[in-house]
Amino acid sequence: MAKDFHPPYPWQTGLWQQLRHDRQQLGHALLLYGRAGIGKYAFARYLSQALLCKQPHSGHPCGECASCHWFNEESHPDFRLLSPEQAAESDDESAPSKKTKKKTQISVSQIRDLNEFLSLSSHRNDGARIVLIQPAEALNAASANALLKMLEEPAPDVIFILVANQLQRLLPTIISRCQKVSMPAPSESQALAWLSEQGVQNAQQQLAYASGSPIQVVNEQAQLTTLADIWQQLALGSKLQPHLAASMLIAHSAETGIIALQKWLCDLLTMRLTKQVHYHIGQSGALQGLSDKVNLSQLMQLQKKVDELRKLALHPLNHELQLEALLVEYTRVFVNK
Ligand SMILES: [Zn+2]
Repeated sequence: MAKDFHPPYPWQTGLWQQLRHDRQQLGHALLLYGRAGIGKYAFARYLSQALLCKQPHSGHPCGECASCHWFNEESHPDFRLLSPEQAAESDDESAPSKKTKKKTQISVSQIRDLNEFLSLSSHRNDGARIVLIQPAEALNAASANALLKMLEEPAPDVIFILVANQLQRLLPTIISRCQKVSMPAPSESQALAWLSEQGVQNAQQQLAYASGSPIQVVNEQAQLTTLADIWQQLALGSKLQPHLAASMLIAHSAETGIIALQKWLCDLLTMRLTKQVHYHIGQSGALQGLSDKVNLSQLMQLQKKVDELRKLALHPLNHELQLEALLVEYTRVFVNK
C-alpha cells in the first residue's frame, strides 16, 4: 500500500505548477497555510527537496543526486527543520528525566541555533539554504520575535518556509514578512479517489472520522482499523465493559483513545439534537438507538470531563484508570426505559 504516497497530491498539482513557474520570484519567506491534514508539511518538504536538487526534472526533485540522497537521509547540510519534536530530541540527551513530556513549542534557543547556519555560505556554492518551520503556531513569543529579526534582515540565498494551520495564531509582523500561499484542500471525491489508489478500505467512513483528512487516514491506518472493535464496545451503551473498553482505547496512545471517545460522545450528542453524525457515518443506527436513551445533562458533564482529560493527555499520567472511570460514567448516562 501507499506506493504513490508522495506529494504533490492531486489537489496540489495546480499550485505546484504555479510555484514552479514562479520559482525565480519566490521570496525569502513563504508561509504555507490551510486546514489541518491536507498535506501542507509533505508539500513543504517536497518543495525544499526540489529547490535543493542538483538536477531537477521539470521542477521535480530527481531523487538520485547527492543532494536528494542527503535530503532523504535527513542529513542535508543546507536544510534545517525546526519543530517541537526536534527540541524534544535535543533536550532528551541532556535531561533524560524530561523525556516523557511531549514538547509543544519551538524554543528561542532553536531559533538562535540558526544563526550559525545562516552565517555560513551554502554547502554548494550555487545553492540555496532552506529553513522549514513546522508548525509555525509552535513559535512562542520569544522565538517568534527572534525569528522576526532574521526575516527582517534575510541572509542571501536563504529561504524560510513556514507551515501553519491557523494564521490567527501567528504574529501579524511574521505574516507580513512572508509570501502567503493558501494551500488547497481536497474535495471529498478527490480524497476518496486518492484513498482508493492507496488501497484503503471503507474510505468514506474513515475519511468522515478523520474530519476529511485523507493524509490522516493513511498515516493512522493501523489505529483506524481497530476502531471498529472500539465502536462495537461503545455501542453497548450501559452494557459496555469499562475495563475492556479502556484497554482497547489506550492500545495506541492515550491521546488517540481520548480523541476516539470525544468523537463518539460528540456524535451521540449531535444525533440526539439534530439526528445527524459527523464522524461515525457507519454507526448512525447504533448511535440513534443510544441517543434515544441518553440523559442529556449527564452526557454533557461526561463530555466536559473527557475534554479535561484530553488537555492532560500530553502529560505522563495513568490514563487507563482515568479512562476506565469515565467509561463507568458512560454506562450510567443511559436511562432504562
Ligand atoms: Zn536530486
